Amino acid sequence: MTISYWLDESANHQKNFDVAIIGAGIAGLSAAYWLEKKDSTLKIAVIDKNAVGAGASGRNAGFITCGSAEHFNKLNIQFGLAKATEIWRFSEENREHLKKEIIQDDLSSVDYLNTGSCTVAPSADDWVHYQKIFADMQAAQIDVELVDEQYLKENYGVRNFQGAIQYKHDGVIHPLKLLKKIQSKLKNTTYLLAEEVFSLTHLASEIKITTQRHQIHCKKVFVCLNGFASQLLPELKNFVHPQRGQVIVTEPLPPFVKGPCYLVKHLCYFRQLPTGELLVGGFRNHDIEGENTAHDAATDKIQNALAEFAKSYFENTANVKINYRWSGIMGFTADNQMLIGENPLRPGVHLMAGCSGHGMGLSFNSARVMIENAIDQIPVPAHFDLNRILLK
Ligand SMILES: Cc1cc2nc3c(=O)[nH]c(=O)nc-3n(C[C@H](O)[C@H](O)[C@H](O)COP(=O)(O)OP(=O)(O)OC[C@H]3O[C@@H](n4cnc5c(N)ncnc54)[C@H](O)[C@@H]3O)c2cc1C
Repeated sequence: MTISYWLDESANHQKNFDVAIIGAGIAGLSAAYWLEKKDSTLKIAVIDKNAVGAGASGRNAGFITCGSAEHFNKLNIQFGLAKATEIWRFSEENREHLKKEIIQDDLSSVDYLNTGSCTVAPSADDWVHYQKIFADMQAAQIDVELVDEQYLKENYGVRNFQGAIQYKHDGVIHPLKLLKKIQSKLKNTTYLLAEEVFSLTHLASEIKITTQRHQIHCKKVFVCLNGFASQLLPELKNFVHPQRGQVIVTEPLPPFVKGPCYLVKHLCYFRQLPTGELLVGGFRNHDIEGENTAHDAATDKIQNALAEFAKSYFENTANVKINYRWSGIMGFTADNQMLIGENPLRPGVHLMAGCSGHGMGLSFNSARVMIENAIDQIPVPAHFDLNRILLK
C-alpha cells in the first residue's frame, strides 16, 4: 500500500524500542518469546498491518507435523539421508520446544492432540513406492509404521487407499489458541497492530521503521513476514514466492478421522477437529498459476475440488454441508528450505521467511535459531542460511 501526504500521520509520532519485530504470526511471536527469554530487559515492539494471526498463522490446518512421508523422501533425494533426517529432527525439536516452553502440561488450552499422522497411498504403484520410503525412514530411525487399507478405513474413515505410512509423534493444535498462549508468556512486548510497515531506513546508529502512524527507532529489526517478505524487502523478490493455500471446514460430524493425513498426489491434507468438523485443504496443483499470488481469496476451482474430495473420499459425507471456506498466503523458496539470518544488504535487519507450507512445524524452532544467531552469533544451519541465496 502507498501512503498519501494527507494520510501520513507518522511525522511527529516517534517511538523508541530496543528491538522491533515485523509480523505478528507464529514467527514474530516466537521471535519475541526467545528474545524475552534471552534478555528480559529488552523493550520489544511487534508490528503488524492487521492483527495477531491475521496471516497464514491464523488460517492454517493446525498440523504440528514434520511433514508427509513424501516430504521426507523429497528431502532425501535433494540432500541425502543424513541431512533429510537432520531436517526432520528439526521439526521434532520444534514440537518438543513448543510443548516444553509454551504448552507445558496444559494441552487442552490449545486443543493439542498427540495423534500421529498418515501419508496415504492412493494407488498400488504409490504403495510400492511408499514401502521404499518407509524403509528409508526406518533406516533414519524415524518412528514410522505401515498401516493397511482396513486400518485406514477404521481409524481415518477413508476409502480407496492402499495403505499409509504412519509417523507416530505428530500432533494437531488450534493455531490461534497457540498464538494467544505464546502471547500470554510475553511480558515486555508492545503490540502495534493495524500498522503496515512501509519502509526501513538505516540512520547513523539505528534503524527507522515507517508505518502510517509511527516512526519506530530501534537497534535491531526482525522481519517475520514469510510470504509477504518480498513486499517489504524487494531484494527477496526472486527468492521468496507467495503462494495461496485454500481450506474448507464442514459442519460437525461424528468422530471418524483419528489424526492429520496427507494425500500428496493433490497436495491435499485433512483432519477432523475436536468438535467434529472435517477440515480439508490443498489442491493447489489444480491451479498452479492462479494460486501463485499474495491475494486472499477462495476460488471456485480449488473450492470445488476440496468439496468434491470431502464428499467422496469418506464413508458418510456425501451430503455434508460446508460451513467455512478461506485462504491464506504461504512463502516458498526454490529449495523449499527457510531463509534465516541477518540480511547482508541491511545490517541489523534479521529475517526468517519461506516456510514452504510447514511454518507451524518449523517456526518456533526457527525463531530460536534466528535469535541465537542475532544475539549470540551462533551460525544458522547451512540449509537454512539466508546467505546461500543473498550472497550468491
Ligand atoms: C491454508 C493453509 C494451511 C496451512 N496448514 C499448515 C499446517 O497445518 N501446518 C504447518 O506447519 N503449516 C501450515 N501452513 C503454513 C503456515 O501457516 C505458515 O508457514 C506459517 O503460519 C507462517 O507464519 P509466519 O508468522 O511466518 O507468517 P504469517 O502468519 O503469514 O504472518 C505474517 C504477518 O505479517 C503481516 N504483514 C504482512 N506485511 C506486513 C507489513 N508490510 N507490515 C506489517 N505487517 C505485515 C501479516 O498481516 C501477517 O500477520 C498452512 C498455510 C496455509 C495458508
